[in-house]
Amino acid sequence: MVRKKELRKGTMTMKVAVGIDIGGTKIAIGLVREDGKVLKEIEFPTNVDGGPDQALEKMIQYIKSLYTVEPNIIGIGIGSPGPLDTKAGIVLEPPNLQSWHGYPLVQKIDSAFRTKVKLINDADAAAFAEYYYSHRSVYSHMIYVTVSTGIGGGLILNGELYEGVLSGAGEIGHMSMASNGPLCGCGKIGCLEAFSSGTGMMNTWKKKLESLQQPFDPDWTGKDLFEQGASGETTAAEVVKSGADYLARGISQAVQLLNPELVVLGGGIVLAQPTFYQQVVQAVPNYLLDHHKRNIVFAIAEQGRTAGFKGAAAAVLAE
Ligand SMILES: [Zn+2]
Repeated sequence: MVRKKELRKGTMTMKVAVGIDIGGTKIAIGLVREDGKVLKEIEFPTNVDGGPDQALEKMIQYIKSLYTVEPNIIGIGIGSPGPLDTKAGIVLEPPNLQSWHGYPLVQKIDSAFRTKVKLINDADAAAFAEYYYSHRSVYSHMIYVTVSTGIGGGLILNGELYEGVLSGAGEIGHMSMASNGPLCGCGKIGCLEAFSSGTGMMNTWKKKLESLQQPFDPDWTGKDLFEQGASGETTAAEVVKSGADYLARGISQAVQLLNPELVVLGGGIVLAQPTFYQQVVQAVPNYLLDHHKRNIVFAIAEQGRTAGFKGAAAAVLAE
């Protein structure tokens, strides 16, 4: 989306920030301008077994090199899997970052650079990237939902990221949709994620075919599910339709609760399966009050693979 006021602004006067996206397998860092342009980026393995200090060393080294290119960096944003204590700047206990538990990441980065440092959770970073770079000039209230192997979400309310107490707001994937549904990865029964994520739909497909005594190939992936569904295989089509319908119900509950203007859908499944996205968008109004129905807009995520560090940088740029 083109924002007129920023086109008038010369690129020389635009703010720049560093964004860091910490994941269980890799860490990505980017130098990002406030119009969303990535000026420099790098990616390296997290090496969780090696502990956080070796990763910190690499981060500091690279960020130092960014300061030589761009001395006017206004701050450093960090996106990390939760749970986090974002106020104290501590990584609490993300399951895929075992050796980082309790690590005072913000303090470590801050003592190296003496600049503004902000820590947010990774789903919030992706959500805020979509809001800040694509929609902030038009909307103030947005729900972001990402659908891939799991389902995550983020909330932008009154133009600001809403994080909740332990950066746990927007966990749309773990809203309870049924009292005796499938088991979710989180240990609860009947979460939205267990119905509508890639993993959830594959499990449902397998169970359905087995109950019909039809073969299920263990090598099949989500792609096979959607392809077979599209080509008229009844069971696959039913599973996709049901997954889309549960997702629409989950989204509609969030919409009824928060009354946003915009719902942005992202994640591997939404981006690869436009018909799934359409099914969801068409089904949401079935579960909404009339006045909510009239005012809701849907969009597909457009910040791509760098949304993680771009959103972390945006958290600093927005202040
Ligand atoms: Zn769950």
